[in-house]
Amino acid sequence: MAAEPTVDGGPASGLPPRFAALHRELGIPSNYAVTRGLPFHGEVDEATLVDVGPSPDGRPVRLVPSAADAWHRLRQAAMNDGVELVAVSGFRSVARQTEIIRSKLQAGRALPDILTVIAAPGFSEHHTGRAIDIGTPGYLDLEENFAETDAFRWLQARAGGFGFHLSYPRGNAWGITYEPWHWLFCPPD
Ligand SMILES: [Zn+2]
Repeated sequence: MAAEPTVDGGPASGLPPRFAALHRELGIPSNYAVTRGLPFHGEVDEATLVDVGPSPDGRPVRLVPSAADAWHRLRQAAMNDGVELVAVSGFRSVARQTEIIRSKLQAGRALPDILTVIAAPGFSEHHTGRAIDIGTPGYLDLEENFAETDAFRWLQARAGGFGFHLSYPRGNAWGITYEPWHWLFCPPD
């Protein structure tokens, strides 16, 4: 598939200066990307995003058009099988990612602990507009118990056919907690 345009671009070698400065400010070690093996994700141009929401709490859920189309088809196919999928969260800006980490730090959580549940700015798949957090009625809080639902079982069986893949399975190599709700649209070429 064609690369989605990004604002910051970002070569794999070395962090763009804006991100290096943000990481310094938050106290994120300069070897974060190397030790975690996480790929850099530039921030997609927000003007290209379309809203597939609202989320259960009334906020927009924005994705790039290709992912939005695939999401609509995925959701409809699930509905045809009697499974309701709910879009909880989509695009997240680098600024918002930074704000979330900052507020956790201010609440007294240790940085290494925070970085097991949220990626450093520039390393969240949500920056790309191709990642979506999915829930189902009764399971909208993005908790691990989503894995026990028919919705999750349906996704495991069918989402790949729509180009969606589970990014952070149990015991993933990146040291990110198991996220059964987090799916990335990444269709084969
Ligand atoms: Zn997510």
